[in-house]
Amino acid sequence: MARRKGSTAAVSNWFFRTLQQGVAVNNVRQDLAILVRLQELYDRIAVAIRERQSPPIEVQALQQANLDRQVELEKIEEQVQEHETELREVRKKEEEWKLELEHFQRQKGMVTNEREFTAVISEIDYAAKALEEASKRRRELEDANRDLAAELEERRSARPEEEAAHKQVVQAWEKRKKEIMAQVHTLVTEAKALEADVAPKNRARFLRLLASKKGTAMAAVMDGSCSLCHFALRPHLQQRVRRCEEIIACETCHRILFMQETLDGVNETTGSV
Ligand SMILES: [Zn+2]
Repeated sequence: MARRKGSTAAVSNWFFRTLQQGVAVNNVRQDLAILVRLQELYDRIAVAIRERQSPPIEVQALQQANLDRQVELEKIEEQVQEHETELREVRKKEEEWKLELEHFQRQKGMVTNEREFTAVISEIDYAAKALEEASKRRRELEDANRDLAAELEERRSARPEEEAAHKQVVQAWEKRKKEIMAQVHTLVTEAKALEADVAPKNRARFLRLLASKKGTAMAAVMDGSCSLCHFALRPHLQQRVRRCEEIIACETCHRILFMQETLDGVNETTGSV
């Protein structure tokens, strides 16, 4: 950190000014080298997070199968509920027709003439038929619900060996997700440690770009062009990038430009602090 203290000291001496400039230039080169390494770390973090967000095909298939199974179970349960609702009505009707029938049967014993007798018999026939219909429907619904209950039971306890295989797949994926998170944690810790070594201004710029440029803040200059947006740099700008005396942004995509060959070897001196 001593390399940055020079900027606060009021040094007017020519010698110190020159020395300071030399240190600053050196710092830009070191910062660039660290930023390139940071970019690599953030790239690896992005890859890990992408992996965590895309479960393997067999897990996806399993999740879909479970979802489908759940939908089917819910459909059956819904059907059972509909039957129950109708059953309550049918049972009530059955009771009503039973009472009606008893009533007319009592009336039958009290008729005084042929006409009344015929009328009561007709009522009894009608009530008996209605009662029979209600009873028939009640039995149908009860049978249907018994079948559906059996089906639900069977589906819920279906194929234990298949479930065991599913469990393995899910557990393997859960394990992998934990590994990925541990890996991300390590990479983030490493990144934070490296960031502490970059001048705050450059660090802030890098992090801003990282956020606005979908995770890619650094762009290598290759064959005179920005390797990311392929914009050809003017020779003068290429020279400035090569000198590493200042942070140079791509004129088109605004990412921080660097030339790998100018940074080679810098990492070794700035590494693991
Ligand atoms: Zn660019």
